[in-house]
Amino acid sequence: MDYKDLANLIFPDAKEISYYEEKYPRRDLPEGACVLRVAPSPTGNVHIGTIYQALIAKKVAEQTGGVFYLRVEDTDQKREVENGIKQIVDSLEKFELTPHEGMISEEESKGAYGPYKQSQRKEVYQAYAKYMIEQGKAYPCFCTPEELEEIRNKQEAAKIRPGYYGVWAKCRNITVEEAAEKIKKGENYIVRFKSPGREDRKIKHKDVIKGNVEFPENDQDIVIIKADGLPTYHFAHAVDDHLMGTTHVTRGDEWLSSVPLHLQLFQELGFKAPKYAHTATLLKNDNGNKRKISKRKDPEAAASYYLEEGIPALAVKEYLLNIANSSFENWRRANPDKEIKEFDFQLNKMSVSGALFDMVKLLDVSKIVISRMTAEEVYEKASNWASIYSKELSKLLEDKEYALKVFGIERGNKKPRKDIAKWSDVMDNIGYMYDDVFLNNAQEYPYQVINNKEEIKNILSTYIEKYYDENDDKQAWFDKIKELSGELGYAKEVKEFKENPGKWTAHVGDVSTVLRVALTGRTNTPDMYEIMQVLGKESVIARLKKAIEL
Ligand code: GLU
Repeated sequence: MDYKDLANLIFPDAKEISYYEEKYPRRDLPEGACVLRVAPSPTGNVHIGTIYQALIAKKVAEQTGGVFYLRVEDTDQKREVENGIKQIVDSLEKFELTPHEGMISEEESKGAYGPYKQSQRKEVYQAYAKYMIEQGKAYPCFCTPEELEEIRNKQEAAKIRPGYYGVWAKCRNITVEEAAEKIKKGENYIVRFKSPGREDRKIKHKDVIKGNVEFPENDQDIVIIKADGLPTYHFAHAVDDHLMGTTHVTRGDEWLSSVPLHLQLFQELGFKAPKYAHTATLLKNDNGNKRKISKRKDPEAAASYYLEEGIPALAVKEYLLNIANSSFENWRRANPDKEIKEFDFQLNKMSVSGALFDMVKLLDVSKIVISRMTAEEVYEKASNWASIYSKELSKLLEDKEYALKVFGIERGNKKPRKDIAKWSDVMDNIGYMYDDVFLNNAQEYPYQVINNKEEIKNILSTYIEKYYDENDDKQAWFDKIKELSGELGYAKEVKEFKENPGKWTAHVGDVSTVLRVALTGRTNTPDMYEIMQVLGKESVIARLKKAIEL
């Protein structure tokens, strides 16, 4: 009886690995092309970190003429949720990060290296596990949970490293005959890797992001095939990244410490190891403390949050690129009109530690992204969002022609308006431009410098009677507000006002504010002339009269 017989006893039906090596040939790609994947587990509520990983992987793949694929890592079936894959596929699509290959629904995938869901690849892993047993590089382990617990307790008591290694690895040295006998008797077992490593030796590794790192060698005989016949993450990723031709493994840095084990697995399997690039975890500032963005505590941890809030996918991606490569911000400033695919992203320029994710900054980026859109685009996107999330806004936007005028205020010029950060703000941002909304909710708004009721009434009625003419151009319109200010005893120029303190109680700007508040209920709006043009005469008069009444 030898290793081969034992391997046959354990996996009688597994194919030779040459079958899979031929079935999944090396990819025929141009030199320098990188193949990357995003490999989430379908545990529900896609994390923003998965979007971040996908963005980076897709960017590098496309920049180099390579491939970006989605592999679903569902070997821990206890953690799985229903529709978990669909959620991942949909999120990637919504963020315009659709993979070139990989899963496209719960069961189906596209691409020649599939299936791309690990639970559908059981026989592939078993073939490689069998191969490892044949080589004497893996073995069945019969330890019961109680025995493993006992080992752990002894290690704890002796204050030594926990784990299944060296002298603690009880089943490592049982003979082939003994193992075969136990299996035939029906004893339960799992398959373990026979690590050739030694803890007192070091390995050096050059991570694409973290640079040179040194670790003790791995000496743990980790489980490679579990009792349910499925592989563990470590084993599965090695087999998959090899067969699927991954050139660069980009993943969160919580995996960095597994590198010694992973390199050893690649080595023992006879595979060429991919390059590893471990990305810094997305952190948030929580009352002065930086901590991981957590699904449990932070709504913004969920990719769906951005869609629900109506933060454009492009804004999220631009912000994540900012975090990923700090040079992006300058590039964007210098190239406001370029598409992000033109940005030259560099994996090795990613930050080594803590990537701070700041919602306020993201919303600033979003304002800029939306300010670059045409009125038509804003209309389309806001309406799409509203059709799912806000009946009220949908209704408001029914009159497309008027909505385009509203969104067109201060847009398409050198300094476009930047007041919309997300589609859920739109109702509040433009609601006042609609008489139905504005007049029905009109109230006594707080005016600013000029806040005496009689004075306000006087300004508004004089304006209606003598100065308002909807056909005025901007200059004439503004000259008339100056005239109005002069007539009522306010300074016509701000400069004059400042030079002679005490001479006037207020100036033309304050008079404008009275008009603005009366017309819109706010002290801060886009250009008032444009607003009045869009509102039209009837609405302007109605609003001013309403304000006088109030
Ligand atoms: N399935 C692993 C995770 O959920 C993926 C790690 C990797 O990308 O290799 O984090």
